[in-house]
Amino acid sequence: MSSALGKSSRSEPETGSQPISEAAAGAILTIDLGAVRENYRRLKAKLGGVRCAGVVKADGYGLGAAQVAAALVAEGCDIFFVAHLAEGVALRDAIGSRPEIHVLNGLPPGSELEAVAADLVPVINSAGQLKAWSEAGQTAGRKLKAAIQVDSGMSRLGMAPSEVEALAGDAFAGVDVALVMSHLARADEPGNPANAAQLSEFERLRAMLPKAPASLDNSSGIFLGLPYRFDLARPGAALYGINPTPGEANPMLPVVRLEAKIIQTRSIDKGAGVGYGHAFLASGPLRAATISLGYADGWHRRAASAAWFDGVRLPFVGRVSMDSIILDISALPAGRLREGDLVELLGPSQSVDDAAGHAGTIGYEILTSLGPRFHRRYVGG
Ligand SMILES: *Cc1c(COP(=O)(O)O)cnc(C)c1O
Repeated sequence: MSSALGKSSRSEPETGSQPISEAAAGAILTIDLGAVRENYRRLKAKLGGVRCAGVVKADGYGLGAAQVAAALVAEGCDIFFVAHLAEGVALRDAIGSRPEIHVLNGLPPGSELEAVAADLVPVINSAGQLKAWSEAGQTAGRKLKAAIQVDSGMSRLGMAPSEVEALAGDAFAGVDVALVMSHLARADEPGNPANAAQLSEFERLRAMLPKAPASLDNSSGIFLGLPYRFDLARPGAALYGINPTPGEANPMLPVVRLEAKIIQTRSIDKGAGVGYGHAFLASGPLRAATISLGYADGWHRRAASAAWFDGVRLPFVGRVSMDSIILDISALPAGRLREGDLVELLGPSQSVDDAAGHAGTIGYEILTSLGPRFHRRYVGG
């Protein structure tokens, strides 16, 4: 199925674990870095001249921060966002000294000098963090770059309006403010008045802060239009092929393909119980195949309940197990599927957003759940 993609494939060692060979793995995760690059280009085109970062937190939404960031660097991206300090340290190792790396969650107290050593820029979310970073600068003997986040209405991270208003005039004297930012709570609902409210609150708070480039847009924010764009966009999801415009056609290219191996096929008689709890009872004879993928691989028990082969839908029968799922393959000619063959879980027949819809979740959670047991194949880098 993936032989065309597989041609230029290479596998990357995962940090801290041995890479799993294609022959040994129960499932193959193909990550199309060419599609990541094209998605970045599409967002850049949409943004006009506005600078575009790459958000690669949670190991690049589960797809490999080092590989994704390297692909984006090749497109000219020179600014990245991670969530954790440790993610920033690992990314610095992977992509070298040049790109700017911001840490969205800020720095846990006492970890500031680790961030200095890796040349990371913390997103400062409180007056206390601002003070700690100024002090780290004194220790380092220079003013350190900082991004200042204000809470414009999401109530999650960033300085509260009252905190901004209360800051002394010289509060920022000890740092070099490189960015002022905030985050939208409802950017994926273009008609929602909460967006305009956050925009004007961001403008109001920004006027009280040192003059610096500003950033408000995540992926969906980019599609809200010009007033939201400021100087820098921070897309994550859209780079990975998740639809930033829910309800409308996806303007991004798909990035992942997940295929699971068949580990056994069998005939099931009428009346037989299938899987845990015999949750499925065969109402007639059927042919079944068991695949080497289960909820321990991040396929939630309630995620999409079918695999695909050559465009043919193969419904799950019975419950998803930890390491396996049983498929009804009666729709295919007998003998068509054999041990070792691959069926598609994510790809052209079933998008990440499709799978999420079935599970009552979002594509972000599907991607970041994808487990460590796959053979990972990067193509198009
Ligand atoms: C995760 C995150 C982003 C990226 O959001 P997407 O919806 O994935 O584009 C941008 N900014 C902040 C503060 C974030 O937490």
